[in-house]
Amino acid sequence: MIRDNAFICPRCHHAAEYPGASRATDGRDIEICGPCCNDEAVREARGLPVQKMADWPVPSDWNRDAE
Ligand SMILES: [Zn+2]
Repeated sequence: MIRDNAFICPRCHHAAEYPGASRATDGRDIEICGPCCNDEAVREARGLPVQKMADWPVPSDWNRDAE
């Protein structure tokens, strides 16, 4: 469900709530959705690279449950 305070996440292009700061920029000044934040956190924890903004939108198959 999309509520009035929802926005379109620039990273996955899903409508989302509970945005957080993306790790893709040094200043962490880009807001992305909760699932994307979680994905980036998991990648970071595993030592994997976080997709840069140039690679957005990221493939959404990891994010199917968010629809
Ligand atoms: Zn997202």
